[in-house]
Amino acid sequence: MAVALVLAAGLGERLGLGCPKALAELAGRPLWRHSVDALGAVPAIERIVLATPPGQDADAFAPSMPAGVIAVPGGAVRSESVRLALAAAGAGGGDSLVLVHDAARPLLTAEIVQATLAAAARDGVDAAIAATPVTDTIKQANGDGVVLRTLDRSGLWSIQTPQVFRHAALERALDVSVEVLAEATDDAWLVERMGGSVVIVPSPRENMKVTTPLDLNLAELLLARRDERVLG
Ligand code: C5P
Repeated sequence: MAVALVLAAGLGERLGLGCPKALAELAGRPLWRHSVDALGAVPAIERIVLATPPGQDADAFAPSMPAGVIAVPGGAVRSESVRLALAAAGAGGGDSLVLVHDAARPLLTAEIVQATLAAAARDGVDAAIAATPVTDTIKQANGDGVVLRTLDRSGLWSIQTPQVFRHAALERALDVSVEVLAEATDDAWLVERMGGSVVIVPSPRENMKVTTPLDLNLAELLLARRDERVLG
């Protein structure tokens, strides 16, 4: 069994909607609701905590809040939202599993959830993270745009969520200053920097992150195609 923390506390200014990204409507439901519904359909998930934007009226999320989901105000930076949601989760401690997922990835499926949970449950693993192989050539450039080097993409992965952690490892990794939390673009990095073992779980590119209006349109198309497959 595991608890799931769904992060919806970002403002999502790049989406330009004038409301938090998680409240953007996607295929008739708010963005955050897609992830909560996908997680709610997995029997191994015993509790869901939703981190909502700090200072935002939590009632904005209330009209479609499923029974049993706990909403808590998130923090100023992403990993602080994780810390606050974890504290509210009353999770099992020790070796029990905690799944962290960005509400900005609405195409989450039960298969991805189950695969990351199974990988994190293996002996000696502190965290299992969904990821897709990098397909573009990646170059590093200096501030003037001059290319310094081309990276070998054969071992590179583009990291997604869900990321599943052993409770004790995540709690220890999050027990750092706000400055370190602010540096983290994902929570697995916090586990890596304390020497923890993090493994990749291959995941489809469809588990995309919604950042811009183009992403929202693409997510809508992908969801429609998925529904067609299910219904057809
Ligand atoms: O900004 P970005 O798209 O990387 O955010 C990833 C996820 O983290 C989003 O689902 C966003 O709502 C969440 N987040 C959060 N608390 C913050 C910042 C971002 O829960 N302070």
